[in-house]
Amino acid sequence: MPNFSVLVNEDTCIGCSVCAQICPTDVFRIVMKKKGEYERLVSVVEREEACIGCMACVYNCPTDSIKVFKKGEEKKLEKSEVAA
Ligand code: SF4
Ligand code: SF4
Repeated sequence: MPNFSVLVNEDTCIGCSVCAQICPTDVFRIVMKKKGEYERLVSVVEREEACIGCMACVYNCPTDSIKVFKKGEEKKLEKSEVAA
């Protein structure tokens, strides 16, 4: 089973909702969040387990605010670092 981590940088996200519209598995939700004095729209990762790693969100986010990576990859990196 593919298992991906999906991260949104809330500081750079402008809440445009492109990711929510383009994601085939409905991973994102656009919500109002308080940031300092103001409330604004941001994308939150609501269904990370549904991500299929298609990268459509990463390629289409206008502010480069999304990162998607395979969960196993960090582990492998750590192990090889330990072995080295
Ligand atoms: S596409 Fe990017 S900027 Fe737009 S809501 Fe999603 S994460 Fe935020
Ligand atoms: S990589 Fe694809 S499936 Fe995963 S969150 Fe982005 S658009 Fe959705």
